[in-house]
Amino acid sequence: MAKRLKVANPARCIGCYSCMMACARTWYDTISLKNSRINIQTRGGIETAYAMIVCHACVDPPCMRACPLGALTKRKGGGVTLNKEICDGCGNCIEACIVGAIHLDAEKKAVICKHCGVCTKFCPHDVLEMIEVEDSGELKVTDTSPVEDTSPEGPTASHKELYGKKEPEVKK
Ligand code: SF4
Ligand code: SF4
Ligand code: SF4
Repeated sequence: MAKRLKVANPARCIGCYSCMMACARTWYDTISLKNSRINIQTRGGIETAYAMIVCHACVDPPCMRACPLGALTKRKGGGVTLNKEICDGCGNCIEACIVGAIHLDAEKKAVICKHCGVCTKFCPHDVLEMIEVEDSGELKVTDTSPVEDTSPEGPTASHKELYGKKEPEVKK
């Protein structure tokens, strides 16, 4: 079953960078924020809001199409998988990414989210979560039954019951 990373509750982010450190530690064995595949930025200083720059797991990834060497291949569930051996750091994928979620590491290799979900386990406020998607990357439709109509058949309370006054007369 395919999964992808989703920014579920952006308003809860407190800019602790725990997710970035978890990512860098997992994939680069350092806690340098420069090596994180997720990027938390402030918008206008720490007293305002945080922006999460996260790969959107594109179904038809522009970054992959822009790579002249075929270093990026489609990942099951959306997004891409990088073959580091092939990447020569040309930067075409960086230009092509729709959200600016790619950068180069110290070895001039592309740093791109793998949608592994490690960061979600280290976020103290459930900002990030992994969601199930179709293998194609499309969102999963889990419930196709018709939406139940729960609206009342008629008014549930009169104007008088609600407001304790006589209903206003409608002028004709
Ligand atoms: S930086 Fe690497 S992955 Fe990105 S387009 Fe260039 S060769 Fe491909
Ligand atoms: S890195 Fe950017 S372009 Fe590539 S799949 Fe993720 S969001 Fe899409
Ligand atoms: S899903 Fe994995 S690779 Fe992507 S940002 Fe989170 S920890 Fe890094």
